[in-house]
Amino acid sequence: MDNCAVVGINWGDEGKGRMVDLLTEHYDVVVRYQGGGNAGHTVLNEYGKFALHLLPSGIFREHTVNILGNGVALDPENLLAEIKDVSSRGVTVTPDNLKISDRASLLMPWHRDLDALEEQRLGDKKYGSTKQGIAPFYSDKSQKKTVLAGELRDPKSLSDHLHELLEWKNLTLTNVYGAEPYTEESLKKWFADFCEPLVPYLCDTGSYLEEALDQGKSLLFEAQLGALRDLNFGIYPYTTSSDTLSSYAPIGSGLPSLKLTEVVGVVKAYSTCVGEGPFVCEMHGEEASRLREAGSEYGAKTGRPRRVGPLDLVATRYGVGVQAATGIALTKLDVLGYMERIPVCTRYILNGEETDRFPFPSDLEKAEPVIEYLPGWNCDISGARSWDELPKAAKDYVLFIERSLACPIIYVSVGPERESIIRR
Ligand code: GDP
Repeated sequence: MDNCAVVGINWGDEGKGRMVDLLTEHYDVVVRYQGGGNAGHTVLNEYGKFALHLLPSGIFREHTVNILGNGVALDPENLLAEIKDVSSRGVTVTPDNLKISDRASLLMPWHRDLDALEEQRLGDKKYGSTKQGIAPFYSDKSQKKTVLAGELRDPKSLSDHLHELLEWKNLTLTNVYGAEPYTEESLKKWFADFCEPLVPYLCDTGSYLEEALDQGKSLLFEAQLGALRDLNFGIYPYTTSSDTLSSYAPIGSGLPSLKLTEVVGVVKAYSTCVGEGPFVCEMHGEEASRLREAGSEYGAKTGRPRRVGPLDLVATRYGVGVQAATGIALTKLDVLGYMERIPVCTRYILNGEETDRFPFPSDLEKAEPVIEYLPGWNCDISGARSWDELPKAAKDYVLFIERSLACPIIYVSVGPERESIIRR
């Protein structure tokens, strides 16, 4: 019984969706275990181009079962819109190939409101939230003030629970933020429109996955965002509010005792970051615009231009460690084809001293990058399908990263299409 987690090593947007789409061929079940509609996994395949926010990237494979685990912020509006979108483009989505944990909590309309209201209140000090309600959702979950998806099966007790929640939430909305309160009628309509259609998909995903393992099926866990955005080990407070690490995959899926056998850490050949917070290697001006354009670095969810920079090996080494990666998928190597020489950050200077350790979050503000340059390859490598087809300078760049990370690079991606991959 094989199982594997595909996780982000950096700030997210590393190309996880593309890797999961490729790897799903070898797995029976694909599970999303944390996060919600705040990320966008871009997948390009025979059905077209998709930015999947909640649906697992295995949804395109005919024989793959897709699971939204208990750790996910279940956003019914986003999920239904996504099901509708992929279905209208020829992809089959039924309760046979999509299962939603009955232990997943529902992301309510007020979570999105509170996210936006708090960012507005913070003004210049905002975190750069995607305003998808993720932070208010997870804080309510910790306060035990969310609705579990399984409650949808019992309308009477759900209605009592909602009554209590509504009273409590309206206190914050009106008294803290001066916003409009929700009414029971508006909530009832919201449940009828967006939640009831999801009832047929509800499932005890823990039991389902246990049975799948007993039957010898293989599981692929698909993470959202990256190690540097993890709530506990990321650049706090510029993190997300969920656990983006591979070690959370068994918990957020419903199989807390599972040991992962493989962890593929996805690393982009250069660095990008969306939102606020320290980004030691950030490029500016013309140099940044050129890289942003070459890599089409605009947020899949928000369309925001991403901050860009050279590959930060200090942060990446840290990410590989906390993700417990057993192998690396290096993506977007083709994007660097225009560079005469490739900048790489190998160390930081902090308080006048060189270090290769990733520092405490607030020290990052003071860190300066040490940049080294490797020869560029100055050509289009997007047609390469084997290691030997890569120019020497591109191979040297990959090998340099591999040595520095002390983790084997097992895939090199040279384009967004499924087949644009080199297996090593
Ligand atoms: P994710 O959230 O980690 O799945 O990453 P995103 O979907 O936000 O960003 C990755 C973007 O890069 C998507 O538009 C992909 O289609 C694209 N992409 C992935 N791998 C490659 C690659 O090797 N080369 C190029 N040029 N684009 C890639």
